[in-house]
Amino acid sequence: MKKINVNEDACIGCGACVGIDGEHFAFNDEGLSHPISMENLDSEDLHSAIDACPTGAISIVEGGKEENIEDEEDSCDGCCPNCQKEA
Ligand code: SF4
Repeated sequence: MKKINVNEDACIGCGACVGIDGEHFAFNDEGLSHPISMENLDSEDLHSAIDACPTGAISIVEGGKEENIEDEEDSCDGCCPNCQKEA
């Protein structure tokens, strides 16, 4: 099952994702973005928010591996045991 991941170490709290896609993102108590819904992951707003993030903090995670939508081909070399991608 796919889900949204926000890397809090990378998030700078700019608010772009929250402004673009309030269905999926909100600020936490630390002023950083966190995902609030794992539904409708094909939405245009979600993909716009991912594209708009200045630090690349947002990714879609599936089966324990991170899958950056923009760099899907480069994001995984199949080296980890949790990888669901066929080598
Ligand atoms: S767009 Fe990126 S850096 Fe800005 S609040 Fe969202 S996750 Fe954080």
